[in-house]
Amino acid sequence: MLRIKRLRESLKLNLFLVPTGLIFISFCMILISFNFVIQQYIDKETGKAIDGKFAFLDSWYAEAQTGGVEDDAQFIIPTEYLIFDDQRNLVFPHEPWRSDSEAEYASEIARCFSEDSAISADGKITKVEINDNVYGVAAKKYWGELAVDIVARSDEPASAMYTVLVSANITPMQKFLNALNKTLIILTLVSGLLALFLILNMAKRIDGSFVKLNKYISAVGRREPLPHFKKLPYAEFNSIASAVRDMSDKIDAAEESRKIFFQNASHELRTPLMSIQGYAEGVSTGVLKDPLQAADIILKESNKMSALVDGILLLSKFESINDNLNYEDVDIKELLYDCLWEIKAAADIRGVKIEHRFEIVGERMRADEEWISCALSNMLINAVKYADKLIRILCFADSDVVMIKIMNDGAGIAEEDKPHIFTRFYKGVNGNFGIGLSLAQEIILKHGGEISVSNEDGLTSFTVLLPKHK
Ligand code: ADP
Repeated sequence: MLRIKRLRESLKLNLFLVPTGLIFISFCMILISFNFVIQQYIDKETGKAIDGKFAFLDSWYAEAQTGGVEDDAQFIIPTEYLIFDDQRNLVFPHEPWRSDSEAEYASEIARCFSEDSAISADGKITKVEINDNVYGVAAKKYWGELAVDIVARSDEPASAMYTVLVSANITPMQKFLNALNKTLIILTLVSGLLALFLILNMAKRIDGSFVKLNKYISAVGRREPLPHFKKLPYAEFNSIASAVRDMSDKIDAAEESRKIFFQNASHELRTPLMSIQGYAEGVSTGVLKDPLQAADIILKESNKMSALVDGILLLSKFESINDNLNYEDVDIKELLYDCLWEIKAAADIRGVKIEHRFEIVGERMRADEEWISCALSNMLINAVKYADKLIRILCFADSDVVMIKIMNDGAGIAEEDKPHIFTRFYKGVNGNFGIGLSLAQEIILKHGGEISVSNEDGLTSFTVLLPKHK
């Protein structure tokens, strides 16, 4: 039972059996319907030919003489007739025979008629086989006199009952049908065998491909080094293998980035932690004479740690949302003013002037407001932190794209730092944790936008491009 179930579930067997079965059934149906149609046609033509012959015999019988022109040409099956007396003795044709074949044919039909009770004299067509020949025969009774080769109507006392038997030779048609049948069966067998071979071959190749793919995917699942993948015979399987390879590369990259993330995060946390530990030990052992100064440093370092932990939590929160951004219609100007207000106090404390030019009126865009304002705030906080005296914020929009520029004066970014400032935990001169810009870039990329850094008019300039419609 289990074995049958397993066989039923086998792809190879199904791939082989289903098309083979379909081919076999269609060939059988073609053969059966073809035979049925041809047989119907033969029967119809036989009936037409026999009826035609009886029509002539009837007209001769009525006119009591021969002389009508028998138009056999309209029937494709040739017919003959024989006349028997009421004892079923053949009375026409008779000796001398026109040919040997006529003699043989007449005696055989006569023997058949006298022996075969299936041939009744009611005009019904019966099929008989004589010496490899097939005939359609029908018989009818006539009351009259035998006038050489016909039965003629007569009221004479010599009148008697005669049976006229018309036979149609359907041997050529039947032979033609048999030959066609033979050819069709041979064709069916040859093409069936060919199809069987091709299907078997294909089923084997598909099954083999699945086995190889299975091994390959299992190796990926076990995180083993990927085995060399030999090209498979079908493009679809190769594209699955390449998708699996891509997936495996992505898993590797994610694992690597997680490793780096934990290394960096623990390294960043260790520095303030060690400083806190050192000062606390100094105070407890009495080495540090000024506990207030120590407490001040401990507070500063723990604030730094808490800011770092906040940053790390924000990074992991953004990672966990995957692609599920909460898109809504956002008023761009309102968004920028909200972000601007958040940094205003810090800029004032540092004596940094903020200039802004928003060339947009009532412009809106599709975005996740919470995360987009987080990205812009990170950049603005940086601008306040790294500016000397000036921050300039510009905003333009066309029908599809919003462009936001956040610029600040100050020392600028060293050329060697530029390619790395969007990398997690990368910090330049006077940098803090290296989280702000990397998170801003991740948010903007997820919105389908771009972020870049350049130097414009002597200012460090961050340019953000965001699509308005999503
Ligand atoms: P953090 O500021 O915490 O170091 P960020 O990821 O925000 O981390 O920035 C990475 C680095 O890029 C910073 O360390 C700094 O060197 C540089 N940077 C970022 N923003 C600016 C800016 N507006 N002006 C100059 N340098 C900047």
